[in-house]
Amino acid sequence: MSINIIDHCVAQGIPFAREYGGLLANRSFGGAQVSRTFYARGQTGQQLLLGAYSSLMRQVAAGRVSMFPRRELLDIVVVNGQARGIVVRNLVTGEFESHGADAVVLCTGGYANVFYLSTNAMASNVSANFRAYKKGAFFANPCYTQIHPTCIPVHGTCQSKLTLMSESLRNDGRVWVPKTPGDKRPPNQIPESERDYYLEEKYPSFGNLVPRDVASRNAKAQCDMGKGVGETGFAVYLDFADAIRRDGKEVIQQKYGNLCQMYEKITASNPYETPMMIYPASHYVMGGLWVDYNLMSNLDGLFVLGEANFSDHGANRLGASALMQGLADGYFVIPYTIGGYLAGTDRPEITTDHPAFKPNGPESFFPSTETGPWMTFTVNWVTFSGNTAACHETMRVC
Ligand SMILES: Cc1cc2nc3c(=O)[nH]c(=O)nc-3n(C[C@H](O)[C@H](O)[C@H](O)COP(=O)(O)OP(=O)(O)OC[C@H]3O[C@@H](n4cnc5c(N)ncnc54)[C@H](O)[C@@H]3O)c2cc1C
Repeated sequence: MSINIIDHCVAQGIPFAREYGGLLANRSFGGAQVSRTFYARGQTGQQLLLGAYSSLMRQVAAGRVSMFPRRELLDIVVVNGQARGIVVRNLVTGEFESHGADAVVLCTGGYANVFYLSTNAMASNVSANFRAYKKGAFFANPCYTQIHPTCIPVHGTCQSKLTLMSESLRNDGRVWVPKTPGDKRPPNQIPESERDYYLEEKYPSFGNLVPRDVASRNAKAQCDMGKGVGETGFAVYLDFADAIRRDGKEVIQQKYGNLCQMYEKITASNPYETPMMIYPASHYVMGGLWVDYNLMSNLDGLFVLGEANFSDHGANRLGASALMQGLADGYFVIPYTIGGYLAGTDRPEITTDHPAFKPNGPESFFPSTETGPWMTFTVNWVTFSGNTAACHETMRVC
């Protein structure tokens, strides 16, 4: 499946890195000791998004897809036990709109924002999943959360999200903290002998490329011991000095120039001269609405794709495979399974005049005293090893 996904994305025009001879290049990644990750510099996800958008817009232009941008889903309409449409709010006019359908496909992302600050956009607020849940859709594995080790630490009270620095930086950056708790000297005044390269020491075969959960847990442990750096003490260094000495600044710039530029813009610190500071942050989730192998929830006709679903058993989205699982759902699973559902189900004709589409005023979407069923989250702080997911046995999209 992963090979098909990469081929499909290449056909969409995603500029994956290539070797001199023209073949797609691979690099190593956290949790893997072989180079098996396809990548587009430090922007793989962004490039995949652009590829998907351009293909979607092509279909819009061809008249095969109608787009309704700037709408917020408020409710799933269920008629005779089948999902038959949605109610949305037009975010420009504020009006409610109803849309009838033969089936509903939710692709509304995960709930990493339950941690308050995460690497997700603020609009990824799990409201659509919650509405489906209130309509009876099951929720599964909410404790499965991925914490990413290389995020820019919290730096103020007014920020709405955290910024991810690509995992690829750990290919060349060395993670360290001062050996002595409470050492507040600037990094360049701390001699080698007083630095603790704790990942290299504890995990010599993986070094700085340990899986994300291991890197995250260890960074927190170091900070809990008082060895964290920066103003808050909730950060560790990611240092490129040795890589620059070994390969030259130009090579490092070529590999990570865009990331270093972004880091400098946000923190006003030059990572070629002063080590980056990083700290783990909530990144994406593996729990979500329960689905069967056809990606249908327990609500007949309600399909859930991508990060919004629980990924069969959660583990399919481990490591760096969130995008790959989402792409598999959208490109290779749903085109077949939804057809099977539509062909094999009786659905009476309905229009949006049906009473199920008529809310009793805004209160029905935003009741002042919501009574259950509420979801209870017990979230583990750390995530899981990047090596076990079945769907990235062969390769991963990073
Ligand atoms: C910074 C960052 C970097 C990442 N890098 C990688 C990577 O390298 N590799 C990897 O595999 N994964 C990566 N991930 C994870 C991966 O990008 C996500 O898991 C994936 O994008 C989820 O796709 P999705 O389409 O399921 O949901 P999303 O991309 O989250 O899209 C959901 C959409 O639904 C909208 N929405 C939500 N609620 C409503 C509502 N009520 N009404 C209307 N719309 C709604 C949201 O606004 C959003 O546009 C990264 C994530 C982040 C945040």
